[in-house]
Amino acid sequence: MVEWGLRATTFVMNSLVLIGYAMLFNWLQTTPFIEARHHHRRALYLVLITVAFLLLFHFASEFLIEEAHHRLGFGWRYINFQVATVLYALLSSRKRSVLVSLLVSLGVWFWWLPNTPTWPLYYLACMTLMLLAHRFGVWLGSRAWRYYPFCLLFVAPFFVMNWQSLHGIEVGWPWQFGTFLIICAELWAVHYGVRSQRRRQQRLTQAAQIDELTQLRNFRVFEADLQAHFATMQQRGIAYMVYTLDIDHFKAINDRYGHLTGNEVLRRVAHHLRTVVQSLGIRGVSTYRTGGEEFTFILPGTQLDLTAAARIAWTVHDALGQLALTAPNAKPFHLSVSLGVGRAHPDDSNYLAPYNQADQSLYLAKRNGRNTVVVSGAVQPRL
Ligand code: GH3
Ligand code: MG
Ligand code: MG
Repeated sequence: MVEWGLRATTFVMNSLVLIGYAMLFNWLQTTPFIEARHHHRRALYLVLITVAFLLLFHFASEFLIEEAHHRLGFGWRYINFQVATVLYALLSSRKRSVLVSLLVSLGVWFWWLPNTPTWPLYYLACMTLMLLAHRFGVWLGSRAWRYYPFCLLFVAPFFVMNWQSLHGIEVGWPWQFGTFLIICAELWAVHYGVRSQRRRQQRLTQAAQIDELTQLRNFRVFEADLQAHFATMQQRGIAYMVYTLDIDHFKAINDRYGHLTGNEVLRRVAHHLRTVVQSLGIRGVSTYRTGGEEFTFILPGTQLDLTAAARIAWTVHDALGQLALTAPNAKPFHLSVSLGVGRAHPDDSNYLAPYNQADQSLYLAKRNGRNTVVVSGAVQPRL
């Protein structure tokens, strides 16, 4: 009675500790509190908590054995949790430092284990399984029929070693394998809970940043990017250009063909604009929908003179002008756009200054009869 009570309570308590470990591990993998550029620090924390939990289980087991003054069966009570910790870390992290630290820790454990002259052989088998878990973690963890057999295979060298070390004492294989599978199921549940939450988070982030109609980034992202470019310019002197364009007489398209056609036109323009802007061959360029029928793109790392800036603007202007659109009555039609260009300058008072310059240039282009290009307040005739 006491023996089974002890087994059950130890099992439940260790399960909770293990789930806590898995949650902490996941949190450390994704938390924005550790900045992206500190990825080595993130790897270090993952290694530290994994080894710390392994040691916690190890010493809890050792002290229990010491207090009971005999080894009978007690070596079995914690081993499932240690193996599950190792397996969870390997399956859910691709970090090499996690793999290496676990290979070393388990090497020490196999070597230390008393009465096991054949330990190198089993350590070799264990290493192979660890490498497989690390390499094929996503594949193994994506289907239950791969995951559970692999868990059983993974635990085998540990069970054999522990059994040898304890001179054949075991607490009952059905209990040992059964509880191990339950632990694996607990970790499977944690893994899936975390994964679905992560996906939901991604969907929400996407919805907050991407315009539904055109699939371009929205004004919120545009503003954040403007700030980032402005900061980079101040720190490292890297300038950039802001281009903004507006479809001419778009209201007339809506009025003539209806809003659904208007929406389709916006989608086509957005898609074509992105393709054209990307084909300019400038690294890090982004395209945004900054208003109803207003689009913007930033060319980072460039400080063009008026002529070069105008050439790019006219290229975009002409590409959009050539876009073949279709009215509901199947008649083809075309549109024209006006463009305004702003140039960032280290003396700019704030991050909005280049966009203001582009916006005012766009306004000037409209006042000048539309279908044209204005760079930094100067009308730029086609070259
Ligand atoms: P201008 O040449 O001066 O830019 O004239 P415009 O008609 O293009 O500009 P105006 O600002 O007068 O009208 C913009 C129109 O764009 C009005 C608005 O209904 C329409 N619009 C804004 N967002 C959407 C949208 O998501 N879908 C559709 N179909 N129309 C939109
Ligand atoms: Mg317009
Ligand atoms: Mg407009």
